[in-house]
Amino acid sequence: MGIEPNEVTLISITSACASRGAVDEGKYIHGFALKLGVLWEVKLVNSLINLYGKSGYLDAVCRLVETMPVGNIVSWNLMIASHAQNGTAADGVGYFNLMRRAGINPDDGTVLSLLEAVENLGLLKLAEGVHGLITKCGLYANATVATGLLDLYAKLGRLNYSLKVFGEVNNPDKVAWTAMLAGYAVHGNGREAMELFEGMVKAGVEPDHVTFTHLLSACSHSGLVKEGKNYFDIMSQVYGIEPRLDHYSCMADLLGRSGLLNDAYELIKRMPLKPNSAVWGALFGACRVYGNIELGKEVAVRLFSLDPSDSRNYIMLSNMYSAAGLWRDASKVRALMKEKGLIRNPGCSFIEHGNKIHRFAVGDRSHPESEKIYTKLEEVIGKIREAGFMSKTEFILHDVEQAVKEDMISKHSEKLAIAFGLLVTNAGLPIIITKNLRICGDCHSTAKLISLIEKRTIIIRDSKRFHHFAAGICSCGDYW
Ligand SMILES: [Zn+2]
Ligand SMILES: [Zn+2]
Repeated sequence: MGIEPNEVTLISITSACASRGAVDEGKYIHGFALKLGVLWEVKLVNSLINLYGKSGYLDAVCRLVETMPVGNIVSWNLMIASHAQNGTAADGVGYFNLMRRAGINPDDGTVLSLLEAVENLGLLKLAEGVHGLITKCGLYANATVATGLLDLYAKLGRLNYSLKVFGEVNNPDKVAWTAMLAGYAVHGNGREAMELFEGMVKAGVEPDHVTFTHLLSACSHSGLVKEGKNYFDIMSQVYGIEPRLDHYSCMADLLGRSGLLNDAYELIKRMPLKPNSAVWGALFGACRVYGNIELGKEVAVRLFSLDPSDSRNYIMLSNMYSAAGLWRDASKVRALMKEKGLIRNPGCSFIEHGNKIHRFAVGDRSHPESEKIYTKLEEVIGKIREAGFMSKTEFILHDVEQAVKEDMISKHSEKLAIAFGLLVTNAGLPIIITKNLRICGDCHSTAKLISLIEKRTIIIRDSKRFHHFAAGICSCGDYW
């Protein structure tokens, strides 16, 4: 129509592109802005940074920020956030340092981007650094910031820090209460979660469906069946919240955990929504724990059709067969997996030491302290054997010789990480480990025994939850 677009037009189009992930169109607008000579407009540049950052074009983001005549704070925040969301969180922290050197004071947006970066890096020291920054800049009063911080501490295994932050939030809102509840849930502190929920109700803060998901999950992780059922009922009856898929999967987990497999199955069959893989997965986990192969097979078929490419379901079914001594069925499942071209996600564990994350794989010997780690591990396992403990080899997949099995299982990544933790952390401090998959039964028993024999608290966050091992017992009550 012959009307010349200006920078405002371009900002609108760029943000439309960002919401659709349309990078190519965005690049065209970028070029157009150059031609038009309006790329000095900060809002337009930020809009482009947002587009490129969301789509993973980090080089483009960097070039934009570096060539900007006036780097404003939003650009920097977007830059840090882009890196945090694209697997290069360390660079995000690097840009934060550059920003400080450029004399720009962080705001709440900066801190929120940083919290995201630190969560991905999993470094407690950095989290404490951000905590200091929040205090120094007086950003504590911002509920979103404080909630982000307490959430971060819970994810890093420091629930006591989360609680402290929560205690310092003025008039916590629904999101803050729910974040604290989520922390209790993932750490398996069911009773505390219930108390917190009562406190929330007393404070006049209305819970929502997310609050109930965490509350039910907390009950489930602590084996509070009666209480969980009660909350499930009052959720719809008192608060008018219709149960969603998350709530059903918590209930299936809750019932399954206490061995009520048929009740869980009935609940799933009766639910008005189409059950997803999380709902069936909860029942499948219970079948594994209780060795119910008949039901397990049935559930596995549903999971295979819902998630044909998820290798974990195949591995779990194969493990169930192996544990029951049904080697032939186990190898059939593994053959099926191979046929479909599915590969097993290799297990690895992470532990923080000296401002660095140390990574261990199964039988890993790449760590510079490898020799000392293996010596320590053998020493501890020797002590455990003396105490009369035998390896639980049923958790190993392959049908191999007993001695070989014991050898393989004793080199699982979490054991190497624990041995390293024993070597490098001071007595009295907990050993905190992250594992990418579900912890196996043998490593779980071993961690319990090490906590007893070495008098150490060991915290392992696996793909399902946190396990706090102390004095020979685990907070999960051996169900995970
Ligand atoms: Zn293991
Ligand atoms: Zn546990």
